[in-house]
Amino acid sequence: MDVIYLDYAATTPVDRAVLEEMLPCFAGTYGNPSSIHALGHDARQALEEARAAIAGFIGARRDEVFFTSGGTESNNWAIKGIASANRARGNHLITTSIEHHSVLDPCRFLEEEGFRVTYLPVDGCGLVDPDDVRKAVTERTILISVMHGNNEIGTVESIAEIGRMAKQEGICFHTDAVQTLGHIPLNVDDLGVGLLSASAHKLYGPKGVGLLYVRRGVRLSSLIHGGSQEGHYRAGTENLPGIVGFAAAVQMAEKEMEREGKELVRLRDSLINGLVGLGGVHLNGHSDRRLPGNVNVSIDGVDGEALLLDLRLEGICASNGSACSAESTEPSHVLLSIGRSPEAARSTVRFSLGRQTTEGDIERVLEVMPSSVRRLRASYVPPL
Ligand SMILES: *Cc1c(COP(=O)(O)O)cnc(C)c1O
Repeated sequence: MDVIYLDYAATTPVDRAVLEEMLPCFAGTYGNPSSIHALGHDARQALEEARAAIAGFIGARRDEVFFTSGGTESNNWAIKGIASANRARGNHLITTSIEHHSVLDPCRFLEEEGFRVTYLPVDGCGLVDPDDVRKAVTERTILISVMHGNNEIGTVESIAEIGRMAKQEGICFHTDAVQTLGHIPLNVDDLGVGLLSASAHKLYGPKGVGLLYVRRGVRLSSLIHGGSQEGHYRAGTENLPGIVGFAAAVQMAEKEMEREGKELVRLRDSLINGLVGLGGVHLNGHSDRRLPGNVNVSIDGVDGEALLLDLRLEGICASNGSACSAESTEPSHVLLSIGRSPEAARSTVRFSLGRQTTEGDIERVLEVMPSSVRRLRASYVPPL
Protein backbone atom coordinates (compact mmCIF):
# COMPACT_ATOMS: atom_id res chain seq x y z
CA MET A 1 0.00 0.00 0.00
CA ASP A 2 1.23 3.47 -0.85
CA VAL A 3 1.76 5.64 2.14
CA ILE A 4 0.16 9.07 2.17
CA TYR A 5 2.31 11.21 4.41
CA LEU A 6 0.40 14.08 5.98
CA ASP A 7 2.57 14.77 9.01
CA TYR A 8 5.01 17.34 7.61
CA ALA A 9 4.68 19.49 10.74
CA ALA A 10 6.25 16.66 12.76
CA THR A 11 9.08 16.23 10.29
CA THR A 12 9.77 16.26 6.57
CA PRO A 13 11.71 13.86 4.36
CA VAL A 14 15.16 15.08 3.35
CA ASP A 15 14.83 16.38 -0.19
CA ARG A 16 16.87 14.34 -2.69
CA ALA A 17 18.75 17.45 -3.83
CA VAL A 18 19.56 18.27 -0.20
CA LEU A 19 20.85 14.76 0.37
CA GLU A 20 23.10 15.06 -2.69
CA GLU A 21 24.66 18.20 -1.21
CA MET A 22 25.20 16.49 2.13
CA LEU A 23 26.78 13.24 0.96
CA PRO A 24 30.28 14.56 0.13
CA CYS A 25 30.52 16.01 3.64
CA PHE A 26 30.55 12.58 5.31
CA ALA A 27 33.63 10.99 3.79
CA GLY A 28 34.94 13.72 1.46
CA THR A 29 34.93 17.11 3.18
CA TYR A 30 35.22 15.34 6.52
CA GLY A 31 37.83 17.62 8.10
CA ASN A 32 37.22 19.39 11.35
CA PRO A 33 36.48 23.03 10.54
CA SER A 34 38.73 24.00 13.45
CA SER A 35 41.77 22.24 11.95
CA ILE A 36 44.40 24.29 10.16
CA HIS A 37 45.25 21.73 7.45
CA ALA A 38 43.71 21.60 4.00
CA LEU A 39 40.80 19.32 4.92
CA GLY A 40 39.94 21.53 7.87
CA HIS A 41 40.11 24.55 5.62
CA ASP A 42 37.71 22.99 3.10
CA ALA A 43 35.29 22.10 5.86
CA ARG A 44 35.51 25.60 7.31
CA GLN A 45 34.75 27.04 3.88
CA ALA A 46 31.70 24.82 3.42
CA LEU A 47 30.53 25.77 6.91
CA GLU A 48 30.85 29.49 6.29
CA GLU A 49 29.20 29.29 2.87
CA ALA A 50 26.25 27.55 4.51
CA ARG A 51 26.09 30.20 7.20
CA ALA A 52 26.18 33.00 4.63
CA ALA A 53 23.39 31.42 2.57
CA ILE A 54 21.09 31.02 5.56
CA ALA A 55 21.91 34.45 6.99
CA GLY A 56 21.10 36.00 3.63
CA PHE A 57 17.78 34.23 3.48
CA ILE A 58 16.60 35.58 6.85
CA GLY A 59 18.12 39.03 6.45
CA ALA A 60 20.77 38.49 9.12
CA ARG A 61 24.51 39.09 9.19
CA ARG A 62 26.71 36.02 9.01
CA ASP A 63 28.03 36.55 12.52
CA GLU A 64 24.50 36.52 13.91
CA VAL A 65 23.72 32.91 12.89
CA PHE A 66 24.75 30.12 15.29
CA PHE A 67 24.22 26.46 14.48
CA THR A 68 22.73 24.16 17.09
CA SER A 69 21.40 20.60 17.30
CA GLY A 70 17.86 21.70 16.43
CA GLY A 71 14.85 23.73 17.43
CA THR A 72 14.74 22.34 20.95
CA GLU A 73 18.30 23.39 21.71
CA SER A 74 17.80 26.80 20.11
CA ASN A 75 14.73 27.49 22.23
CA ASN A 76 16.45 26.27 25.40
CA TRP A 77 19.47 28.40 24.60
CA ALA A 78 17.46 31.54 23.89
CA ILE A 79 15.45 31.31 27.09
CA LYS A 80 18.04 30.06 29.56
CA GLY A 81 20.78 32.11 27.91
CA ILE A 82 18.85 35.39 28.27
CA ALA A 83 17.81 34.53 31.82
CA SER A 84 21.34 33.76 32.88
CA ALA A 85 22.96 36.78 31.20
CA ASN A 86 20.38 39.30 32.42
CA ARG A 87 19.63 38.12 35.91
CA ALA A 88 20.95 41.33 37.42
CA ARG A 89 18.52 43.38 35.29
CA GLY A 90 15.39 41.39 35.97
CA ASN A 91 13.75 38.04 36.51
CA HIS A 92 10.54 38.27 34.48
CA LEU A 93 9.79 36.54 31.18
CA ILE A 94 6.71 36.77 28.99
CA THR A 95 5.58 33.95 26.73
CA THR A 96 2.29 32.39 25.63
CA SER A 97 0.26 29.39 26.65
CA ILE A 98 0.50 27.80 23.18
CA GLU A 99 4.28 27.56 22.78
CA HIS A 100 6.08 24.35 21.89
CA HIS A 101 7.23 22.34 24.91
CA SER A 102 10.82 23.30 24.14
CA VAL A 103 9.86 26.87 25.12
CA LEU A 104 7.41 26.06 27.91
CA ASP A 105 9.60 23.55 29.71
CA PRO A 106 12.68 25.82 29.96
CA CYS A 107 10.32 28.51 31.30
CA ARG A 108 9.02 26.11 33.95
CA PHE A 109 12.61 25.22 34.78
CA LEU A 110 13.42 28.92 35.25
CA GLU A 111 10.42 29.34 37.54
CA GLU A 112 11.97 26.74 39.81
CA GLU A 113 15.14 28.82 39.75
CA GLY A 114 13.33 31.91 40.99
CA PHE A 115 12.26 33.55 37.72
CA ARG A 116 8.73 34.72 37.13
CA VAL A 117 6.98 33.82 33.87
CA THR A 118 3.76 35.25 32.42
CA TYR A 119 1.97 32.81 30.11
CA LEU A 120 -0.29 34.97 27.94
CA PRO A 121 -3.66 33.61 26.83
CA VAL A 122 -4.71 33.47 23.17
CA ASP A 123 -8.07 34.02 21.51
CA GLY A 124 -10.27 31.30 20.04
CA CYS A 125 -8.17 31.26 16.86
CA GLY A 126 -4.90 30.99 18.75
CA LEU A 127 -3.86 34.62 18.29
CA VAL A 128 -1.93 36.49 20.95
CA ASP A 129 -3.06 40.10 21.37
CA PRO A 130 0.03 42.34 21.08
CA ASP A 131 -1.67 44.67 23.57
CA ASP A 132 -1.67 41.87 26.13
CA VAL A 133 2.06 41.54 25.63
CA ARG A 134 2.55 45.24 26.26
CA LYS A 135 0.40 45.14 29.39
CA ALA A 136 2.42 42.24 30.79
CA VAL A 137 5.71 44.12 30.58
CA THR A 138 7.23 45.19 33.90
CA GLU A 139 10.45 46.89 34.99
CA ARG A 140 11.86 43.43 35.56
CA THR A 141 11.01 41.93 32.14
CA ILE A 142 14.07 40.59 30.30
CA LEU A 143 12.53 38.49 27.53
CA ILE A 144 9.41 38.16 25.41
CA SER A 145 9.07 34.86 23.55
CA VAL A 146 6.18 34.35 21.13
CA MET A 147 6.17 31.66 18.46
CA HIS A 148 5.86 32.64 14.79
CA GLY A 149 3.68 29.75 13.57
CA ASN A 150 1.98 27.25 15.85
CA ASN A 151 2.87 23.62 15.14
CA GLU A 152 -0.52 22.21 16.14
CA ILE A 153 -3.16 24.61 14.87
CA GLY A 154 -1.06 26.54 12.36
CA THR A 155 -1.91 30.04 13.59
CA VAL A 156 0.61 32.67 12.48
CA GLU A 157 1.15 35.29 15.17
CA SER A 158 1.52 39.08 14.84
CA ILE A 159 5.27 38.92 15.35
CA ALA A 160 6.15 42.19 13.61
CA GLU A 161 3.68 44.11 15.75
CA ILE A 162 4.98 42.55 18.96
CA GLY A 163 8.52 43.18 17.71
CA ARG A 164 7.87 46.91 17.32
CA MET A 165 6.48 47.08 20.82
CA ALA A 166 9.38 45.10 22.29
CA LYS A 167 11.80 47.50 20.62
CA GLN A 168 10.00 50.52 22.10
CA GLU A 169 10.17 48.92 25.52
CA GLY A 170 13.80 47.91 25.04
CA ILE A 171 13.12 44.23 25.76
CA CYS A 172 14.72 41.34 23.93
CA PHE A 173 12.23 39.50 21.71
CA HIS A 174 12.57 35.84 20.73
CA THR A 175 10.46 33.90 18.25
CA ASP A 176 10.30 30.17 17.62
CA ALA A 177 10.20 30.13 13.82
CA VAL A 178 10.63 26.38 13.42
CA GLN A 179 7.31 26.05 11.59
CA THR A 180 7.74 29.10 9.40
CA LEU A 181 11.32 29.21 8.10
CA GLY A 182 11.15 28.11 4.49
CA HIS A 183 7.36 28.10 4.51
CA ILE A 184 6.33 31.75 4.70
CA PRO A 185 8.41 34.92 4.19
CA LEU A 186 10.61 35.63 7.17
CA ASN A 187 13.07 38.46 7.76
CA VAL A 188 14.56 39.18 11.16
CA ASP A 189 14.40 42.97 10.71
CA ASP A 190 10.81 42.97 9.50
CA LEU A 191 9.86 40.78 12.46
CA GLY A 192 11.86 42.94 14.87
CA VAL A 193 13.31 39.96 16.70
CA GLY A 194 16.54 39.80 18.69
CA LEU A 195 16.53 36.00 18.73
CA LEU A 196 15.01 33.45 16.37
CA SER A 197 15.00 29.64 16.45
CA ALA A 198 14.75 27.35 13.43
CA SER A 199 15.27 23.68 12.61
CA ALA A 200 16.35 22.01 9.35
CA HIS A 201 14.13 18.93 9.51
CA LYS A 202 10.93 20.97 9.22
CA LEU A 203 11.95 22.26 5.78
CA TYR A 204 13.23 19.13 4.00
CA GLY A 205 16.64 19.25 5.66
CA PRO A 206 18.17 16.68 8.02
CA LYS A 207 17.26 16.08 11.65
CA GLY A 208 19.57 17.19 14.43
CA VAL A 209 20.55 20.61 13.11
CA GLY A 210 19.06 24.01 13.76
CA LEU A 211 20.04 27.58 14.34
CA LEU A 212 19.69 30.42 16.74
CA TYR A 213 19.81 33.89 15.23
CA VAL A 214 21.27 36.31 17.80
CA ARG A 215 21.11 39.99 16.91
CA ARG A 216 24.30 41.93 17.57
CA GLY A 217 24.24 43.44 21.01
CA VAL A 218 21.90 40.88 22.60
CA ARG A 219 23.32 39.72 25.93
CA LEU A 220 23.13 35.94 25.90
CA SER A 221 25.02 33.27 27.89
CA SER A 222 26.16 30.03 26.32
CA LEU A 223 24.19 26.87 26.87
CA ILE A 224 26.86 24.39 25.76
CA HIS A 225 30.35 25.06 27.07
CA GLY A 226 33.49 23.48 25.68
CA GLY A 227 35.45 24.41 22.57
CA SER A 228 35.69 27.70 20.75
CA GLN A 229 33.29 26.82 17.93
CA GLU A 230 30.60 29.27 16.82
CA GLY A 231 32.51 32.23 18.21
CA HIS A 232 32.84 30.55 21.63
CA TYR A 233 29.07 30.72 21.88
CA ARG A 234 28.15 27.12 21.15
CA ALA A 235 30.82 24.51 21.74
CA GLY A 236 31.11 21.20 19.95
CA THR A 237 32.46 20.15 16.56
CA GLU A 238 30.06 21.44 13.94
CA ASN A 239 27.65 18.99 12.29
CA LEU A 240 28.92 19.83 8.84
CA PRO A 241 26.78 17.44 6.77
CA GLY A 242 23.74 18.66 8.69
CA ILE A 243 24.63 22.33 8.33
CA VAL A 244 25.34 21.98 4.60
CA GLY A 245 22.02 20.16 4.25
CA PHE A 246 20.27 22.91 6.20
CA ALA A 247 21.67 25.53 3.81
CA ALA A 248 20.69 23.47 0.76
CA ALA A 249 17.17 23.13 2.13
CA VAL A 250 16.99 26.88 2.71
CA GLN A 251 18.19 27.57 -0.82
CA MET A 252 15.50 25.27 -2.22
CA ALA A 253 12.91 27.06 -0.12
CA GLU A 254 14.16 30.38 -1.44
CA LYS A 255 13.27 29.22 -4.95
CA GLU A 256 10.16 27.15 -4.23
CA MET A 257 8.47 28.75 -1.26
CA GLU A 258 6.13 31.14 -3.03
CA ARG A 259 4.83 28.68 -5.61
CA GLU A 260 4.71 25.83 -3.11
CA GLY A 261 2.90 27.97 -0.54
CA LYS A 262 0.14 28.84 -3.01
CA GLU A 263 -0.33 25.23 -4.01
CA LEU A 264 -0.41 24.10 -0.38
CA VAL A 265 -3.00 26.71 0.53
CA ARG A 266 -5.18 25.42 -2.32
CA LEU A 267 -4.85 21.79 -1.20
CA ARG A 268 -5.20 22.76 2.45
CA ASP A 269 -8.42 24.64 1.86
CA SER A 270 -9.91 21.87 -0.23
CA LEU A 271 -9.18 19.40 2.58
CA ILE A 272 -10.62 21.77 5.19
CA ASN A 273 -13.78 22.29 3.13
CA GLY A 274 -14.19 18.59 2.54
CA LEU A 275 -13.77 17.76 6.22
CA VAL A 276 -16.04 20.51 7.49
CA GLY A 277 -18.62 19.34 4.93
CA LEU A 278 -18.86 16.01 6.77
CA GLY A 279 -20.77 17.78 9.53
CA GLY A 280 -19.80 18.08 13.19
CA VAL A 281 -16.25 18.93 12.17
CA HIS A 282 -14.69 22.13 13.53
CA LEU A 283 -11.58 23.82 12.22
CA ASN A 284 -9.06 24.75 14.91
CA GLY A 285 -6.92 27.82 14.39
CA HIS A 286 -7.37 30.82 12.13
CA SER A 287 -8.99 30.58 8.71
CA ASP A 288 -6.37 32.59 6.82
CA ARG A 289 -3.60 33.57 9.24
CA ARG A 290 -2.57 29.99 8.98
CA LEU A 291 0.49 27.96 7.93
CA PRO A 292 0.03 26.92 4.27
CA GLY A 293 0.08 23.19 5.04
CA ASN A 294 -1.85 23.01 8.31
CA VAL A 295 -5.26 21.39 8.77
CA ASN A 296 -6.43 20.76 12.32
CA VAL A 297 -9.99 19.69 13.08
CA SER A 298 -12.01 18.48 16.05
CA ILE A 299 -14.64 15.94 15.09
CA ASP A 300 -17.72 15.56 17.30
CA GLY A 301 -18.16 12.10 18.77
CA VAL A 302 -14.93 10.66 17.41
CA ASP A 303 -11.94 9.50 19.41
CA GLY A 304 -8.92 11.09 17.72
CA GLU A 305 -6.61 8.22 18.45
CA ALA A 306 -9.03 5.63 17.08
CA LEU A 307 -9.33 7.72 13.94
CA LEU A 308 -5.56 7.86 13.54
CA LEU A 309 -5.44 4.07 13.75
CA ASP A 310 -8.17 3.81 11.11
CA LEU A 311 -6.21 6.16 8.87
CA ARG A 312 -3.08 4.17 9.53
CA LEU A 313 -4.76 1.04 8.18
CA GLU A 314 -5.41 3.03 5.01
CA GLY A 315 -1.76 4.06 4.81
CA ILE A 316 -2.51 7.64 5.80
CA CYS A 317 -0.07 9.24 8.24
CA ALA A 318 -1.69 11.99 10.28
CA SER A 319 -1.25 13.16 13.83
CA ASN A 320 -3.18 14.23 16.87
CA GLY A 321 -1.21 17.42 17.29
CA SER A 322 2.39 17.57 18.28
CA ALA A 323 4.65 14.56 17.92
CA CYS A 324 5.99 15.33 21.35
CA SER A 325 2.66 14.75 23.06
CA ALA A 326 1.54 11.78 20.97
CA GLU A 327 2.70 9.46 23.73
CA SER A 328 0.91 11.28 26.51
CA THR A 329 -2.79 11.08 27.26
CA GLU A 330 -3.03 14.68 28.40
CA PRO A 331 -5.17 16.74 26.03
CA SER A 332 -3.19 19.27 23.99
CA HIS A 333 -2.35 22.46 25.89
CA VAL A 334 -2.82 24.39 22.64
CA LEU A 335 -6.37 23.15 22.08
CA LEU A 336 -7.30 23.83 25.70
CA SER A 337 -5.82 27.33 25.34
CA ILE A 338 -8.09 28.17 22.40
CA GLY A 339 -11.07 27.10 24.49
CA ARG A 340 -11.67 23.57 23.25
CA SER A 341 -13.00 21.20 25.91
CA PRO A 342 -10.78 18.28 26.95
CA GLU A 343 -13.23 16.04 25.09
CA ALA A 344 -13.00 18.06 21.87
CA ALA A 345 -9.22 18.12 22.26
CA ARG A 346 -9.23 14.32 22.31
CA SER A 347 -11.37 14.33 19.16
CA THR A 348 -8.78 16.17 17.16
CA VAL A 349 -6.64 15.24 14.20
CA ARG A 350 -3.98 17.23 12.38
CA PHE A 351 -3.13 16.76 8.73
CA SER A 352 -0.03 18.67 7.71
CA LEU A 353 0.61 18.90 3.98
CA GLY A 354 3.93 19.36 2.25
CA ARG A 355 6.07 19.17 -0.87
CA GLN A 356 4.94 15.70 -1.98
CA THR A 357 1.25 16.17 -1.25
CA THR A 358 -1.02 15.75 -4.25
CA GLU A 359 -4.62 16.37 -5.12
CA GLY A 360 -5.02 12.59 -5.11
CA ASP A 361 -3.83 12.38 -1.49
CA ILE A 362 -6.51 14.84 -0.42
CA GLU A 363 -9.16 12.96 -2.40
CA ARG A 364 -8.11 9.72 -0.75
CA VAL A 365 -8.42 11.21 2.74
CA LEU A 366 -11.85 12.58 1.92
CA GLU A 367 -12.83 9.16 0.57
CA VAL A 368 -11.79 7.34 3.74
CA MET A 369 -13.07 9.81 6.31
CA PRO A 370 -16.88 9.56 5.99
CA SER A 371 -17.17 5.84 6.68
CA SER A 372 -14.50 5.97 9.36
CA VAL A 373 -16.17 8.87 11.15
CA ARG A 374 -19.57 7.16 10.90
CA ARG A 375 -18.23 3.92 12.35
CA LEU A 376 -16.30 5.61 15.15
CA ARG A 377 -19.28 7.75 16.10
CA ALA A 378 -21.41 4.63 16.44
CA SER A 379 -19.02 3.15 18.99
CA TYR A 380 -18.00 6.38 20.72
CA VAL A 381 -17.75 6.43 24.50
CA PRO A 382 -17.11 9.91 25.86
CA PRO A 383 -14.02 10.11 28.10
CA LEU A 384 -14.79 10.19 31.84
C1 LIG B 1 9.55 20.73 15.79
C2 LIG B 1 9.45 21.96 16.60
C3 LIG B 1 10.42 22.31 17.56
C4 LIG B 1 11.55 21.38 17.91
O1 LIG B 1 12.52 21.32 16.91
P1 LIG B 1 13.53 20.05 16.89
O2 LIG B 1 14.50 20.40 15.83
O3 LIG B 1 12.69 18.86 16.55
O4 LIG B 1 14.13 19.96 18.24
C5 LIG B 1 10.30 23.50 18.22
N1 LIG B 1 9.28 24.34 17.97
C6 LIG B 1 8.34 24.07 17.05
C7 LIG B 1 7.25 25.05 16.80
C8 LIG B 1 8.39 22.87 16.34
O5 LIG B 1 7.43 22.60 15.45
